[in-house]
Amino acid sequence: MLAADMPLKNMDRQTAASSSQRTHVKNMPDVLLINPLSIFRNVSEKSNLRNYKVSGVKTGVWPPLGLMYIAAELRKSGISVGILDAFAKEYSLDQTLEAIRREEPRIIGISAATPQIRGAYQLASEIKRQFGRNILVCLGGPHVSSDPQFMDRVDCFDFAVLGESELEFPGIVKDLLNGGVPERIYRSDPPVDLDALSVPDRSEFDINDYFKTEQPCFTVITSRGCPYKCIFCSRAAITDKVRYRSPESVLDEIGRCLERWGRTLVFLDDTFGMSRLHATRILEGIIDRAYDLRWTCNTRAHLIDRDFIDLMKRSGCYMLLFGVESGSEHLRNQILKKHVSDEAIRNAVSLCKEFGILSGLYFMLGFPGETRKEMEKTVNMGKDLGVDLITVHPTAIYPGSQLQKTLQEERGIDINAYWTEYAKGTLSFEEIPSVYIPEEMDLRYIQEARKRAYRKFYFRPSVIWAHLKNDMASLKDLKRDAVIAVNLFRHGKTSKDLK
Ligand code: SF4
Repeated sequence: MLAADMPLKNMDRQTAASSSQRTHVKNMPDVLLINPLSIFRNVSEKSNLRNYKVSGVKTGVWPPLGLMYIAAELRKSGISVGILDAFAKEYSLDQTLEAIRREEPRIIGISAATPQIRGAYQLASEIKRQFGRNILVCLGGPHVSSDPQFMDRVDCFDFAVLGESELEFPGIVKDLLNGGVPERIYRSDPPVDLDALSVPDRSEFDINDYFKTEQPCFTVITSRGCPYKCIFCSRAAITDKVRYRSPESVLDEIGRCLERWGRTLVFLDDTFGMSRLHATRILEGIIDRAYDLRWTCNTRAHLIDRDFIDLMKRSGCYMLLFGVESGSEHLRNQILKKHVSDEAIRNAVSLCKEFGILSGLYFMLGFPGETRKEMEKTVNMGKDLGVDLITVHPTAIYPGSQLQKTLQEERGIDINAYWTEYAKGTLSFEEIPSVYIPEEMDLRYIQEARKRAYRKFYFRPSVIWAHLKNDMASLKDLKRDAVIAVNLFRHGKTSKDLK
């Protein structure tokens, strides 16, 4: 019998203590939400992650906003909850299990995007092996939401909650704590009114777990959903409904964070500025409230014009990051369905320079029909445009994306099944067709193109000097620059272990 079949009221006496008895006990939450390791690469063995630890430079590791939203709703419903960010704490599997043993939760919720699915699976398997029916294990997050059949292929998770589940999850948990038997899959409707959600609770996060290599920042989301249909993106598999928070609620949250998390804000919206009116009201609010902020966001080049960037600058914007993906306009728009012209990109970058805002471009290598000549345009585009930073990745094929369906139709490859084997540790990352390889190339060619792009871009005197000048004041920043430079030179990427 699977643990999922066992109602919680049958648990042993220690863990069967009622919710109200337990809520006063420090470190004994009913629910423990876990952000697992993000691993794309094996260290030495396929299946043994027991002592795996992320090493090298981790950049952009921020407190897990999604789990904070869920925790806030659970608390509002009177359910005790803790959050363990195993990734940020750099916990090995054993350390994570030890923390679980200390906390004795009755339900564990693991949230996983595809890069984390292996860490999530291995953790859940160990929890089931060591704690059996005493702990119910739930899987949530983008991977299972985009591939619900994942649950048919694994048995270490007792149940899954799909989609944006903040409003449904407390009811599910209450039912289980009262002895209910979990359904295998719960589907959630995306919240329509984002202001009805509790503001993420950041109270228990230790700032020292984050920003070991970066200056502190905090993240806020002003909208959910994205109306665009880029073929490599799985966002729409969860929902493509765009919803906005009220500017007042966003501004209040920023004000609270400013007191504790420093003055650097990252807007985590899929695309900030989709609604000019909404973004304008927030940015004007930042100015009106005299918030001393520096902020950055992901956006799209065609949304930027002189008036908008002027407002961005006056409200504290220091960097804009654009998803460009390919240096070939034809590929970008006809194949990727990105619908951003070369002219819009040139214009946005030029406005950034004029207004003293850093600009960065995201690139991907490997799309259907991509030629070597087109890939070379991508390799050179950041350097040619004179932006301040670039990131370049082979195109990963994620569940729920149009690219995943194309791969299935054209080549008969079921990448979702491969990701499951990868999660189980029966196949390594290198053994699954996780990257889209165009006809006239192989993986090595793409990896070499990536190295070329980084070396051409970053190993120029002007770029090296700009980074040194910027980071001169901080030994921490200089050390990070040195490690990244070595990794770029040796491996063609910014970290040893993270793809
Ligand atoms: S890549 Fe960005 S812009 Fe494109 S669909 Fe996904 S979230 Fe939207």
